[in-house]
Amino acid sequence: MYSDKKIICKDCGNEFIFTAGEQEFYAEKGFDNEPVRCKDCRAKRKANRNNRSQRNNYSNRR
Ligand SMILES: [Zn+2]
Repeated sequence: MYSDKKIICKDCGNEFIFTAGEQEFYAEKGFDNEPVRCKDCRAKRKANRNNRSQRNNYSNRR
């Protein structure tokens, strides 16, 4: 089973928790890599990407 894990964010240097639930989610999706950024930084990067012109794609997702 999974247990919460502390990771240092690559971008801001803050410690964040890669929770057991998230690890399970990653495993389910077949992601090999652990996250290297905290949620804030990930959200920022995502926002930057979506700003380009992928709005439709985003709203189709559930
Ligand atoms: Zn961060």
